[in-house]
Amino acid sequence: MNSQSTNSSSAMFSDSLMSADDALSFLIDSASVTAMTEAVSLDDSLGRILASDIHSTINVPGFDNSAMDGYTIALNDNQVAQENLSFDVVDRIAAGSTGNDLKIGNAARIFTGAPIPNGANTVVMQEECTLSKDKSQITVKRAINLNENIRPTGNDILKDNVILSSGRQIKPQDISLAASVGVGELVVFKKIKVGVFFTGDELVEPGNPLTPGKIYNSNRYALVALLKQVGCDVINLGNIEDKLDATCEALEALESQCDLIMTTGGVSVGEEDHVKPAVEKLGELNLWKIRMKPGKPLAYGKVKQTPFIGLPGNPVSSFVTFCIFSLPFIKKMQGNSNYESKILKVKTNFDCKRAKPRREYARVRIDHSTETPLASLFPKQGSDVMSSVVWADGIVEIPENTTFETGTILNYYSMSELTR
Ligand code: AMP
Ligand code: MG
Repeated sequence: MNSQSTNSSSAMFSDSLMSADDALSFLIDSASVTAMTEAVSLDDSLGRILASDIHSTINVPGFDNSAMDGYTIALNDNQVAQENLSFDVVDRIAAGSTGNDLKIGNAARIFTGAPIPNGANTVVMQEECTLSKDKSQITVKRAINLNENIRPTGNDILKDNVILSSGRQIKPQDISLAASVGVGELVVFKKIKVGVFFTGDELVEPGNPLTPGKIYNSNRYALVALLKQVGCDVINLGNIEDKLDATCEALEALESQCDLIMTTGGVSVGEEDHVKPAVEKLGELNLWKIRMKPGKPLAYGKVKQTPFIGLPGNPVSSFVTFCIFSLPFIKKMQGNSNYESKILKVKTNFDCKRAKPRREYARVRIDHSTETPLASLFPKQGSDVMSSVVWADGIVEIPENTTFETGTILNYYSMSELTR
């Protein structure tokens, strides 16, 4: 970030509370798509982000073919729409082979996917054909029309069309489509590397006994899992001693090898925290107080040229701010064109009698048996209550400065959308 934007952003965001929407747009505007791409095999492409459009060089199917096991017929003009016709069966065409030209009035046994021979103009399914004892003739009781059960050339994909667009996150069905046009490798954006570390003298690693005043470091595991789930490579320095030198060293070590640095905790105004002064020393830091709950403190800056996001320390705040702010930022960096989380609408099973100054991201469960899905609150919405996140189907956005009755329609993010 240049000095001009640093000045303007700190002027914009320094003292007063910032809206969640402004923080999100600022972050998304600041994220730049990684420039690094690589070719991967189809088997290795699942979940990766396509870095260029895929054009088909062929039609799919490449030839008119039968949609059924049955008989293909070269109907004469005067046989169209006529009932009770009989035809000599003169050929047999299996999938993978080609038949001979079919003369008017003749039929050929044909199987699903086999090419329609020259001269043939319709297919009747075998269940509708009566085969003569010597199997040399079929009779069809019902009227037959032209082009029945024929899959025409290019029915699925036309040559030269774009079948998959750059910026798409590759799904199993995309891999199938790419394979169907003969593409064996896809050019994708390289995985971004996210460097993380954690500070806080109260933190103990799971597996060790707790001593008085200590808590287990849960954010470390949440953040690493979230980053892995969204397809990042993670460089985890683990717990760093809460000293300025150690924090600066950790930041410098990560800066040289990562596309993004993230931490949790230490971005409130506590005196014990060295993340803030360390980032400021090596780059720049905007410490935002966001008008939201849980959350509030969020740090965004740069360590030299590498972007830095400091999430709050409280586990729910850390999780929610990751989902709402970091995820779209990371997705944009990854080259994903679909980086914004999808907002659905739900109806509240609760009211709000007292307007609150901060937007709340409340953990809710959804009842889908009603016409508009119904959202119920987890009883404890504190930023330390991680059970609320585990219990929840998603997060409902309770607007700031608003009261509402039960049955109000609000924005909703499903947990699967927030961690995809
Ligand atoms: P801080 O943002 O560092 O002031 O931390 C706010 C709260 O989150 C405090 O109660 C911390 O103990 C807690 N906290 C900070 N880091 C972690 C962590 N890694 N795991 C669990 N809780 C944490
Ligand atoms: Mg702390």
